[in-house]
Amino acid sequence: MVGHQLKENSVTDSPHISVRNLSVHFVLGRQLFGKPPVVRAVDEVSLEIPKGSFFGLVGESGSGKTTLGRAILKAAPITSGQIVYRDNEVEYDLGSIGKEQLKDYRLRAQLIFQDPYAALSPRMTVRDIIAEPLEVMGITHTRAETDDRVREMASKCRLNLEHLRRFPHAFSGGQRQRISIARALVCNPRFVVADESVAALDVSIQADILNLLESLRGELMNTFLFISHDLSVVAHICDTVAVMYLGALVESAPTRSLFSNPRHPYTKALLSAIPSLDPDVRGKAQKLEGEIPSPITPPSGCKFHTRCPIAEERCSSEIPLWRELSDGHSVACHFAE
Ligand code: SF4
Repeated sequence: MVGHQLKENSVTDSPHISVRNLSVHFVLGRQLFGKPPVVRAVDEVSLEIPKGSFFGLVGESGSGKTTLGRAILKAAPITSGQIVYRDNEVEYDLGSIGKEQLKDYRLRAQLIFQDPYAALSPRMTVRDIIAEPLEVMGITHTRAETDDRVREMASKCRLNLEHLRRFPHAFSGGQRQRISIARALVCNPRFVVADESVAALDVSIQADILNLLESLRGELMNTFLFISHDLSVVAHICDTVAVMYLGALVESAPTRSLFSNPRHPYTKALLSAIPSLDPDVRGKAQKLEGEIPSPITPPSGCKFHTRCPIAEERCSSEIPLWRELSDGHSVACHFAE
C-alpha cells in the first residue's frame, strides 16, 4: 500500500481531509512596471472534513468554493498552507505528494461534474463512459471484470442495463447526471467532490439526485464535499456547512445550528434569500447590496464590510478573528456574539 502508516491513536479519530491556512493565488500575466495582479481565489482557509460526512461548501459565484474543491482534489496549485488527506492506513500531504502517492490519491478522490450535458462524451456508449476510469486506472484487467463493475454501479445509480448500450444524447438531464455519478463512483473512491452537481437540473430531478447521493453515501461509506450556491439544497443533504465569501470562510457549523442560529450577516442574507411558500416570510429577503468585490483587490479589514448592513468603523481596518462560539459553530465577525 502506498503512503505511510499513521500513529495508532490517530487512525479512527482523524478527519478525512484537513485544510490548514490554505491560499490559492493566481498571478495574471506580466506587467512592464510593478508587480502583476494576483487573484486571491482562496485566502488562508482552514477546515476539517470528517470521515463519512457530507460537508457542504456554499457561497456566491466568485467566492472561491470551486477553487478550494479543486485544490483538495490536487487540481489547483497550493500557494501556501497545507492539505492533508487521511484514511485508515494512509496519510498524504498534498503539497509534497509523490508521483505514486498521487496516482493512489486520484483513485481515492473523484469529482462529479456540474454539467451533465458537457461532462459525457457524445461518441461513447454509457457502458464505455462508466468503464473508462476502471480501464485507465488499471483496476480491472478483463472485459468481463469491467462489465461486472459497470453493471453493478449502473444498478446502484438506478440505470437500466439496456441503458448501457445507448449514447448520452438519448437521456434526460437527470439520467445523464446519474451516468456521471456512476462514472465518478465506479472506482469506489473514498472522497468525492460534487461541484454544483444539481445546479443544472429541474427542481424535481434535483431531489431525485440528492436522494441518490445520500443513499450511495450510506452504502459506499464515502466522504462528500458538496459545493453549491444554493443553501436549500445543502440543507437537504449536508451534516456540516461552511460559508465562503471572497476566498475566505466566514462561518461553519453543523447544518441545524447554521440554519437555526446563523451568526454572520452574510449567512443571514443567504438564508433570507431562500424562496419560501410562507406568505408571511415571502418578500422579506434581506437583499445584499452591490456585487461581490474583485478578488484581485479585496477590501481591507473584513472583506464583507462593503456590503454588510451592520458594518462599523473597525470593520474596514480590522480583520475579524475566526473563532468557535459554540460546539462546532465557528464564525469570523467582530459582532457575532
Ligand atoms: Fe459585518 Fe463587521 Fe461583521 Fe464584517 S466584521 S461581517 S463588516 S459586522
